[in-house]
Amino acid sequence: MLRIGTAGVPLSTETRDTLAGILQVRKLGLDAMELEFVRQVYIKHEKDAEAIGTLAKKEKVALSAHAPYFINLNSPDRVTLEASHKRIISSARMAHFAGARSVVIHSAYYLKMDTREVFERVKEQYKILRKELVNKGYDDVFLRPELMGRASQFADIDDLVNMCAELEGVLPCVDFAHYVALHNGTKNGYDAFCELLGKIEKGLGKEGLQNMHIHFAGIEYSDKGERNHLIFDEKSPRGKPLFLWRDMVKAWKDYKIEGIAICESPNIEVDALKAKKYYDSL
Ligand SMILES: [Zn+2]
Repeated sequence: MLRIGTAGVPLSTETRDTLAGILQVRKLGLDAMELEFVRQVYIKHEKDAEAIGTLAKKEKVALSAHAPYFINLNSPDRVTLEASHKRIISSARMAHFAGARSVVIHSAYYLKMDTREVFERVKEQYKILRKELVNKGYDDVFLRPELMGRASQFADIDDLVNMCAELEGVLPCVDFAHYVALHNGTKNGYDAFCELLGKIEKGLGKEGLQNMHIHFAGIEYSDKGERNHLIFDEKSPRGKPLFLWRDMVKAWKDYKIEGIAICESPNIEVDALKAKKYYDSL
């Protein structure tokens, strides 16, 4: 089953807190919600995470989490690297207690370093992080390095698949809008999205397709890649082609993917529902 949902509490939620958000996701007829720890891991106590998990389970809303943006697993600075580890581990800890199965991570910046070298460095960090999750008993949570939208950021789909194939408990967060932006619109549409899913199948097997975590949104980009998210079918101020979201949904269906797909359009639940309605109609 593919569960489609929102990046954070839906905008139409009256009381803007996580518990109300879960109820609203259910009311809207969606099936998933990502806990947005992007500024900070805002759930501080295990018992609060457990209460969120209990409600989500009751309402059949699948949860995931997004780790803070302030992470760079390729930082040459020891302090930044340690802080990055702490942010990932505390995200995974709260995800674990909330019953969320994935933590999405913006892994690293290349910092103009050799890309092979960065690949090895980041892979080593994920190995260490995974070991820590196992030691702490949080290893029911997958670490999900995100497919990023700019060439200065680690990583594209090839490096992600190659890295994840070598690691236990680490799988990609496949951001379709970033994929379009990273390739300046040259990878957009049904064939390009099938190519993307084909790479996952080839590198990670059928299991890779059956345990997916996806991000999607309308997207504005320049030659340098991602600029910001748009609403589906909202015209790009730069005249770039629209994100072909229906083709993405069709590719999901044809590849029979399972897991969670999270909408990050500015109108989150509206585009999430559009994608879900189209998915259900196919
Ligand atoms: Zn992200």
